[in-house]
Amino acid sequence: MQIDLHRIPVREVVAGYLNTEEDGVSGMNGRLDIRPKYQRLFRYNVEQQQAVLRTVLKGFPLNVFYWSVSGESGGEPTYEMLDGQQRTLSICEFVEGNFSITDPAWPFPKNFDSLSADDRNKVLAYQLMVYKCRGTEDEKLEWFQVINIAGLKLEAQELRNAVYTGPWLTDAKRYFSRENQAAHKYGKDYVKPGDVKAQALLEKALVWIAGRGDDAICRYMNDHRNDQNALELWKRFRDVVDWAKATFPKVRPQLSQVNWPDLYDRFGSRTWNAGELEQRVRELLADVDVTKKAGIYEYVLSGDERVLNIRAFDDSMRTEAYERQNGICVKCQEHFEIGEMHADHITPWSLGGKTEGANCQMLCADCNRRKSNI
Ligand SMILES: [Zn+2]
Repeated sequence: MQIDLHRIPVREVVAGYLNTEEDGVSGMNGRLDIRPKYQRLFRYNVEQQQAVLRTVLKGFPLNVFYWSVSGESGGEPTYEMLDGQQRTLSICEFVEGNFSITDPAWPFPKNFDSLSADDRNKVLAYQLMVYKCRGTEDEKLEWFQVINIAGLKLEAQELRNAVYTGPWLTDAKRYFSRENQAAHKYGKDYVKPGDVKAQALLEKALVWIAGRGDDAICRYMNDHRNDQNALELWKRFRDVVDWAKATFPKVRPQLSQVNWPDLYDRFGSRTWNAGELEQRVRELLADVDVTKKAGIYEYVLSGDERVLNIRAFDDSMRTEAYERQNGICVKCQEHFEIGEMHADHITPWSLGGKTEGANCQMLCADCNRRKSNI
């Protein structure tokens, strides 16, 4: 990993400055990506923008900037801005004449053109302290993580996006990284409403295809970074959401808490009757003994009661049953202390038995174990 400190005058950065909604923001005649497409954009307010320009005009130092070497164009390196976006934008927008600044010594606010020639030159000659970093993906990621701890405050997926750049990422962001874009409209009822700007949905889609964990996601992004598009990722996302929508079409808040790719992989190849499933879901939502409602969707497919967190008998129900039995285990007929016994549904919950005193029986530990092993 090579990290060099450079002093770069503002006039080089603002050369050929372009700011368009479509293509993002760039400077240095296209060689500096100030805001890559679809990346989150913090906006400085006017006071913050003015403060940057006053700092520049007075010749005071600004904090360092971080640029990452992203490639090459015409024999010259190209860069992506990792930190310093808003300060750079403030300077460029000012030089473009898009806002004015005030100063107690001036009778009126001035934009760039109404500054004295001397002041204009001060702005253009001002040197930014830029760390340029160049290295392998692994090295960059490690370095970004370290400087992130020191103050950059990027989310994990934003860091990965800064490392695994290429045509695949550009295309993936097209689907997943902005509100009102395909993936959000498509899956909004079936995924948690995350922070789009911090790349949460892109991260979710990656988990759905690559599995959980930073390593799995990085491996996938690295393997695919030079793919010409991210259709595989988009198709996986759509397949999972399509299946979830067809199987459980009724929109409820619990839908967003379900692990859909897991259910799709385990149960997606079977045919399900959405009407019957909906009937079961509705009954279970109304069942007070089901304490984990989001587990209902998995339960109606798998039949595994554990995902529902069936309500346990409380102390008064246990005491009632214990006294009713005179402390005798109903299976082995031996006497035990209450602390040695387990509460059990007489009629199992799956056969309609409720978690209530009348349906409670006390079993000794051994009998209880034997029963649950059946
Ligand atoms: Zn027993």
